[in-house]
Amino acid sequence: MRRPSPTGRPGTGGRAPRPRAEQSEQLGFEGMPERLFVCTPSKLGAYADCPRRYRYSYVDRPAPPKGPPWAHNSLGASVHTALKNWYALAPEGRRPEALATLLRGTWVREGYRDDEQERDAYRRALAWLESYVAGLDPGDEPVGVERVVAVKTGVLAFNGRADRIDSRPGEDGPELVIVDYKTGRTGLDADDARGSQALALYAYAAERVFRRPCRRVELHHLPTGTVAAHDHTPESLARQLSRAEETARDIMAAERAVAEGADPDEAFPTTPGPRCGWCDYRRACPTGAQTPGKDPWAAVERADQD
Ligand code: SF4
Repeated sequence: MRRPSPTGRPGTGGRAPRPRAEQSEQLGFEGMPERLFVCTPSKLGAYADCPRRYRYSYVDRPAPPKGPPWAHNSLGASVHTALKNWYALAPEGRRPEALATLLRGTWVREGYRDDEQERDAYRRALAWLESYVAGLDPGDEPVGVERVVAVKTGVLAFNGRADRIDSRPGEDGPELVIVDYKTGRTGLDADDARGSQALALYAYAAERVFRRPCRRVELHHLPTGTVAAHDHTPESLARQLSRAEETARDIMAAERAVAEGADPDEAFPTTPGPRCGWCDYRRACPTGAQTPGKDPWAAVERADQD
């Protein structure tokens, strides 16, 4: 759902998608190219979730102090880096026995309640990895692992780091597939893959960087060993891109309004909800401070109770 424009201008939701891809930079009124909005998926996602959180993360300087680190972020980062390092091994070294060393080497300790919970999380992560790599061909070489892909449109300069980009046979030759690892407690389905703006932008950018079709996006959920996939069309990718551009325009309008003297709290409103309990800036946010905060280990603790 689109929020009203922070500057009061009419919202752009509901407008027919107008993909701006591959246009050259627009000329502004004074013949100068308009500034492109430099962004990553998390930057766009922060604003879409809560404009105030975006402001705290990307506009206010110095930024307000963040809360303590989250155990689930530590767990996710540890697993992602272990898988990255798995592909850095020579194919003959990609054996299940290597995983414990890889995971120990990348393990992030922050956020856990105590040593016992951390040890349990390590064991669980190792089991996920063992089960996941059992389904991989050690000889497969992805086109990219934690690979940055970037693209410019008439509005955006997008860059993002894809967990993995595979090359697989398609009807008319090799096609690229975006793979995103997930380590959260809840499983994911095809709607999650279809609706993910980040995955769509990775696919759009990868297709242009590698000059090969990239329409399929996959969420690999390690705790359940399931894959949620979606096959985009050029039209569905263009729709996601158009939405990202609308978000970028809203952000630039809000930043411009503040620069011209608008109240930053009005230009970047809060959107309170259950996510406030997990927000890094809850303590700094007048709205979020009214929401009870989660313990840093709450998300991994729930998994403990399975
Ligand atoms: S605490 Fe809630 S309302 Fe405040 S910035 Fe975070 S997500 Fe937004």
